[in-house]
Amino acid sequence: MPELIYDYGRIDFDTPGKRHYQLAVHLDSAWGYSLVPLTVVRGYQGDGDGVAVIGGTHGNEYEGQIAVKALCQSLDPAEMRGLAILIPQLSESACRAGTRVSPLDGVNMNRAFPGNPRGTVSYRISNFVKTLVFPRVRVVIDIHSGGREAVFPLCASFHRLPDPAQFAEIAQASRLFDTPFLFVYSRQMSSGLLTDEAEDDGKIAIGGEFGAGEAVSPDGVRHAYHGPLNVMRRYGLLPGPIVPIAREPRRQRLIQAPDLTDYRPCPRDGVWEPATAPGDDVERDQLLGRLHDFSDHTAAPLEIRAHRSGVLIARYATAVCPKGMTLFVIGEETEFPA
Ligand SMILES: [Zn+2]
Repeated sequence: MPELIYDYGRIDFDTPGKRHYQLAVHLDSAWGYSLVPLTVVRGYQGDGDGVAVIGGTHGNEYEGQIAVKALCQSLDPAEMRGLAILIPQLSESACRAGTRVSPLDGVNMNRAFPGNPRGTVSYRISNFVKTLVFPRVRVVIDIHSGGREAVFPLCASFHRLPDPAQFAEIAQASRLFDTPFLFVYSRQMSSGLLTDEAEDDGKIAIGGEFGAGEAVSPDGVRHAYHGPLNVMRRYGLLPGPIVPIAREPRRQRLIQAPDLTDYRPCPRDGVWEPATAPGDDVERDQLLGRLHDFSDHTAAPLEIRAHRSGVLIARYATAVCPKGMTLFVIGEETEFPA
């Protein structure tokens, strides 16, 4: 069983070896705790960089939870240098409930950064990551899967950053997930993303979308598991060469959509019948799908067309789409930074 930790200062990040913990984060709404799983692996081969790998930031996204749990089992400190910090279910209460936000405080963990040691449970967990995890690592990996709302092509993702060296290093590290797409997404959404916070702290911050629809994609789990191992090889934590992950070698495409004007809202409530798949190249005015209104079954569906040419990098996942939800995102292909 993992060791129960009430005082986070008692977590041993420094002694070589592997230690499994559960952080007892006291609840506000009930007499008890969120028990957040944490594994620390400190290599016996000497000092080196730190890498944090996090799953379950959203509780209804499972590839990261599974992949990080597997890393907790498989990483061997005897062959490692440096430090790996593994958190398979960051929003532990949301993961147990299978929901995007925590049922305990209604907070989306991926909008809760930098957190607050005196906030509700999600803010206290994010504050733990900000203050005790980020300072110990160079690389932060946060594994997502689109949840109920969005379908992406298999992609690692990151933001465009003002520091060209940091941006180029993040892009290069993200390629090690060997996904067919890499997605540069907007920083205009809101504040409080885990990766926003890590980037602002100067980290090599990598996100990604490795599945969809509250299911488990075996391909997604494979990339979410082997991607961090490749990153650990690149930063010298693990010996050996980078390994291919994709079943068939494919040119990786870097798609950017830094501006929220390319994230298009659903114009009205309806049943969404997509006509294009995530990852498709689309032309301006191409039919992307139809919105059906069943209040009058004789009414023609509303045709949804591309506002620009580019690559359909995300679209709404489920049939019933409320007005205002992001129906699709079109990005443009760009060159990898040197
Ligand atoms: Zn997510």
